[in-house]
Amino acid sequence: MLAGGGCDVSKLSVSNLSVEFGGRGGLFSEGRVVKAVQDVSFDLDPGRTLGLVGESGCGKSTTGLATMRLIEAKSGTVMFGDMDILKLKGANLRLLRSKIQIVFQDPFSSLNPRLTAAEIISEPLDILNVGTRTERQVRVDELLTQVGLSPEHGGLFPHQFSGGQRQRLGIARALAPDPDILICDEAVSALDVAIQAQVLNLLARLQKARGFGMLFISHDLSVVRHVSDEVIVMYLGRIVERAPAQNLFDAPLHPYTLALISAIPSRDLDRPSSRMRLEGDVPSPVNLPSGCAFHTRCPFAKDHCKQERPELHVVSAGRQVACHYAEQIRDA
Ligand code: SF4
Repeated sequence: MLAGGGCDVSKLSVSNLSVEFGGRGGLFSEGRVVKAVQDVSFDLDPGRTLGLVGESGCGKSTTGLATMRLIEAKSGTVMFGDMDILKLKGANLRLLRSKIQIVFQDPFSSLNPRLTAAEIISEPLDILNVGTRTERQVRVDELLTQVGLSPEHGGLFPHQFSGGQRQRLGIARALAPDPDILICDEAVSALDVAIQAQVLNLLARLQKARGFGMLFISHDLSVVRHVSDEVIVMYLGRIVERAPAQNLFDAPLHPYTLALISAIPSRDLDRPSSRMRLEGDVPSPVNLPSGCAFHTRCPFAKDHCKQERPELHVVSAGRQVACHYAEQIRDA
């Protein structure tokens, strides 16, 4: 029994999540602190998909890992129903974690090479002591079938599968405890385009059948556009824009989102893209720029941007942006 009540309510609410690395005695020299995630908030409802995008190092994967306590947050709350995941301990945390599962980018390194496919899928069920041995075997066979493999694949080891099959195996393992939330962390990035489409269709079909909420983390905006109901854009650890997927891709507001979308090959958009090239590198998260962290690369930056950090603010129903001049840039 979980402390604080049951798991009936499967909505995930993340509020003001912050994650820092380093500091005194940490990995980085001179006790410097990396502010990997700052003040990130979002809700994820059952059956919905929230895309989380940004360049490498923007904090999107760290956000996913901190949400399920695979790394520890510095502050914030992660409510799952009436429980704050960041405060759970021991057996309660393990049990709660089974309700939030993750599929990683590299299925090969995330699957134990010494276990067969059936043992890999059964492992979370064994740990949670779900059903009898026979019932677990039936469940494993069902899951293998649901992800487009067959019960005969259960006796094979990970190295005997293709990349796409291994990702299906990773999905089957993640779905074994019947999670309410599935975090896909670059889950299709390592696959070729044809296999990507198969795995994305599989995820969509399984989500429709099971009703889990999906946090879809990716640097690939074409894929995110395809799967998401809503999208959050992160830059240097903070949310810079949040919008329903259609609105974000049709009319991006933040200059960073504009740049990311303009870099999508035009064959993946309904309209021709006019490329807005980002100048310069992403600044170091150890030494964040003053004011708006994007000002060092933003073609619209003014002096004010270097002095004052723009707050994430509501611009219309379901739309938020952190830019002093987003509306003026949009209307120009
Ligand atoms: Fe660019 Fe200024 Fe907006 Fe930041 S606040 S995105 S620097 S225009």
